[in-house]
Amino acid sequence: MKNEMQIDRNVLAVVVAQALLTLNRISNRFIAQRWASAIEKASERLAKQDVQMWTPGAPSGGLVVFSARSNGRIYHVTNEGCQCVAWHEGFPCWHRAALRLLQRYNEVTEEQQRKRA
Ligand SMILES: [Zn+2]
Repeated sequence: MKNEMQIDRNVLAVVVAQALLTLNRISNRFIAQRWASAIEKASERLAKQDVQMWTPGAPSGGLVVFSARSNGRIYHVTNEGCQCVAWHEGFPCWHRAALRLLQRYNEVTEEQQRKRA
């Protein structure tokens, strides 16, 4: 089941800014920098809708990200991990950043809908 959600870029920008702020809590500056790069890349890909999304929390348990740079490989991404090289080497990857951003994005849009109701 493909999720055809349209990304609201304004909401995405808020979520990205909040995510970058939380990096201050990471004491390892190298890892924090890797997360910052991962978040930036995830934000670009999400804005371009360059990912195939499964609603986080759905039975599939995660998000499927279409990775164009890796010859069209599809990674199954969950909060527990990813299938890409960076993850297996122990580094933050943009796939997991994208998953986390989307989870926050959904929380923020649900809050907004509750306030409007
Ligand atoms: Zn990954």
